[in-house]
Amino acid sequence: MRLIAMTLVALITAHSAPANAYKIHPSLAIHEAMTALAENCLESYQGAEPYDCSGYYPEHLEYFANLDFSNPVYNLSVASRWSDDPQRMNRGLGYLRFGLVFIGCRSRVDNHPGLDDSGLLCNSHFGRLQFLHAMASVGGETTEQTAALMLQWTGFTYGLASGEIDHQQNYCRYFEGRGDALAAAMWRPDFRYCGDRTDGPAPDQWTLGTPFLLRCASLVSPCQETVWDAGRREVRVTAMGALLHMVQDSFSQSHVARGDLTSPRYEARIRCLPAERFYNFNGEDGRGQDGHSAADQLPQYDTESCNAAIRTVDDPITASARLLWMLDQGHSSEQAVAYVRAHVLGLPPSSETAR
Ligand SMILES: [Zn+2]
Repeated sequence: MRLIAMTLVALITAHSAPANAYKIHPSLAIHEAMTALAENCLESYQGAEPYDCSGYYPEHLEYFANLDFSNPVYNLSVASRWSDDPQRMNRGLGYLRFGLVFIGCRSRVDNHPGLDDSGLLCNSHFGRLQFLHAMASVGGETTEQTAALMLQWTGFTYGLASGEIDHQQNYCRYFEGRGDALAAAMWRPDFRYCGDRTDGPAPDQWTLGTPFLLRCASLVSPCQETVWDAGRREVRVTAMGALLHMVQDSFSQSHVARGDLTSPRYEARIRCLPAERFYNFNGEDGRGQDGHSAADQLPQYDTESCNAAIRTVDDPITASARLLWMLDQGHSSEQAVAYVRAHVLGLPPSSETAR
């Protein structure tokens, strides 16, 4: 009986937890839909820089959320869900594994905060990798620190997606040399999966691509890693999906307060205004707390702040499309970071990336 109860809890958690970005409906594929809309909008500009995709959004989000995402044409859409299920557990019996892991996440992160100990899923939802969802990590992180992490994540994921950063590099050597906030979140001196791959892929020797390539849907086997050419393709699309996920999450009012801080919280409304404060999943005003059920519905654009003629911060569909356009055009990761800084977070161009 107890096992049945635990299984049910695990299954319920598995179905509800990954979709907490906008808290619309557990089964609504909002990231997939936003990404598909962005690709659609980009196509409509026929190679020109997409200036405004906001018209697509309110009218077509629900329709796009019901596309058949098993079709490979929507690979990027599926990849933009990666940050919610970074170990790709949510299929078949893997749902059970997801639920069982997720239930224990809080204590795992408290007791073993390192990414190599508590894993990607727990760390990105409860630990130091909450910036993957445009949120502050535990421990009183400031707005500037979260923004800096998000910008460093932008450079890293965009660089992997464009090939500017070689995903086959040794994971530990790459982060060991950086000494910035992203490295502190992703790595520590006794990181478990350091090592050189002299005999091909090995799960205990991470490359930069490994976190984007793990598949852990089996209940009994260890995680598998996609390798060789398939791995190269998957790193590129997944890293870009992870970047789009963060950008899209940053417009959810249960993650980020935009504009003035006095407006009602958790309203399901997308405001194209500068990010003022990042919430924390574990904090007093974070996700999962009372009061944000108001955001639990289909979000609408704030037509005033999202007016393309006057806004400085783009809406999430336009921002996603513009980043995809930059990738297509061969723009550098530095240019992508500058774009996210100015037109997603709404920070002044000259502001320093805090370390
Ligand atoms: Zn998210």
